[in-house]
Amino acid sequence: MSTENANINENEHKQKPIDPIKENGAENVIIIGSGPAGWAAGIYTARAALSPLLFEGTVSMENQEAGLLPMGQLALTTEVENYPGFPAGDLRQYLASALDKSRMMMLLPNEGKEISGPELVELARQQAINFGTRVVSEDVVHVNFNVRPFELTGSDHKKYFAKSVIIATGASANYLGLESEKKFKNRGVSACAVCDGALPRFRNAQIAVVGGGDSAVEEADYLAKFAEKVYLIHRREELRASKVMAERAKKHPKIEILWNRVPEEILGDDQNGVSGIILKSTKGEEPITLNVSGVFMAIGHTPNTKFLNGQLELTSKGFIKRTVPFRMNTSVEGVFAAGDVADDYYKQAITAAGTGCMAALDAERYLASIE
Ligand code: NAP
Repeated sequence: MSTENANINENEHKQKPIDPIKENGAENVIIIGSGPAGWAAGIYTARAALSPLLFEGTVSMENQEAGLLPMGQLALTTEVENYPGFPAGDLRQYLASALDKSRMMMLLPNEGKEISGPELVELARQQAINFGTRVVSEDVVHVNFNVRPFELTGSDHKKYFAKSVIIATGASANYLGLESEKKFKNRGVSACAVCDGALPRFRNAQIAVVGGGDSAVEEADYLAKFAEKVYLIHRREELRASKVMAERAKKHPKIEILWNRVPEEILGDDQNGVSGIILKSTKGEEPITLNVSGVFMAIGHTPNTKFLNGQLELTSKGFIKRTVPFRMNTSVEGVFAAGDVADDYYKQAITAAGTGCMAALDAERYLASIE
């Protein structure tokens, strides 16, 4: 069992070794997920003296491929300008004082003035630990919600038992589903500019970003720091991105928006990876070919619910269904859902954190009601 002793600020609470089955037979609450929703739920349930156990996930090739690395989508984001409480400014000294050195080393240097996604989520993690959230660096691979207490299986093959569960597993980046896209994954095809954008193959090169939402603009903007030119390829003639982001893309000297186009084929060879992309027109025009050495997908996300194995009701779009208005309840009493795994509409870091708090309060009230 991995405890997280090494990661705690020296001046803060020491994390106790984790005993998976507590004396009374079950944890009060297990939180699954380590994005803003998970950590907010950790902060609130810890402050309610529920001694939460939070599964933050594992770093593995398999999880990387599936877009399931710990710390959620914020860990794959550049600057965060719209999270209340974090205006642009010099946050470096504060970060150094709040985070353990070992966690600081994992953060990419941030030259911007805004807090970065990875920095924000690291602060949330530390805050949850400071209040006593116990962190397990494993995935939950199986759940059984048909028994009480609920039974969860970790990627460490251990069984964990809980009286209540908060699911905050977020959502992962979508791909188009082209064969050529699969073939060149990690050799020019990516869904994470922050992870891969600085690689030599993208420097001073021409790159394509597919999508028209905030993520696509953000990726294009980030890649333009390294690339010679970035093509933003959108299937319509109006960006879905927020106005401020859309304007940024339109005005950027290195970004060219190609309207009404979708990828048909990604070109390349085994040795060098991606060398181009064929774009078909959504308006019946001739296909065009661009010489690019990278293609970044930013076409939305799919909620991470596979491990639930059909044990919770989902919406028609595959998100966890909330069963009580303005509450985080799911179809199983005692199981709550927070963040993007149950949100196909707002999908913001701040709304994820907000629903994490709400799920924690709902779990606290549920536990009081059964005891
Ligand atoms: P999104 O808003 O759902 O946008 C997905 C984009 O991909 C859309 O433009 C969509 O086209 C396009 N798309 C979807 N499937 C496609 C396909 N098969 N082929 C071609 N294009 C396809 O997703 P997102 O950009 O990841 O943003 C998700 C949420 O996070 C949003 O609420 C966004 O505001 C938020 N976010 C915020 C920030 C920020 O504030 N800094 C940064 C990133 C994300 P259509 O427009 O035609 O549907």
